[in-house]
Amino acid sequence: MEGYSGQRTCKRAIPTVCNLRWRRVKADACCPYCGYREEDSQHTLLTCSFVRLVWALSDLPWHIILFWSSDAEQWFRHCHDKLDKESYCYFLTLCWLIWSNRNTSIMDKLSTSPDILVAKARSFCSTYQEAFEEGPRLDREAQDNRWIPPKEGVIKVNFDGGVFPPMEATEAGCIARDSNGVCVAWRQQRF
Ligand SMILES: [Zn+2]
Repeated sequence: MEGYSGQRTCKRAIPTVCNLRWRRVKADACCPYCGYREEDSQHTLLTCSFVRLVWALSDLPWHIILFWSSDAEQWFRHCHDKLDKESYCYFLTLCWLIWSNRNTSIMDKLSTSPDILVAKARSFCSTYQEAFEEGPRLDREAQDNRWIPPKEGVIKVNFDGGVFPPMEATEAGCIARDSNGVCVAWRQQRF
């Protein structure tokens, strides 16, 4: 999560407009979503209208996320204590994507919609979880690597697919082989 962490947020290290002014850095920018000039951590991560849409679409319990008692550190502590481990990981991923999207909006004038941000966070977390649960890939490949040919006169079709979140791409492919392992047809498609 390049450039972002809950710890940096707690230490006023993420450069919101208010934090930059607090560090005596001249900052004329405002919130890229709504134009609010006093952009602080609470606005950036919670109260901005754009960000509230992200949280609403996330399906995380709103009564927990909404609780901002004093500062970012307390907010992260509160969410850490109230959410289960999986939800907290999802929560942190959303914070990271909200912050990254805010920076991209300012620097490159490119913004992703709330529903896409939520979909990216879900995809990121499920990919991470699957990789974590399934164990090292090399071990799986060593066990499953043997292709078994079909009986004579039968065509066997194997297919596979993958999702690549950084490229927002999904690919699928299939190959048909006869009993001698000779390829008789194949197809690859990117969605
Ligand atoms: Zn805003």
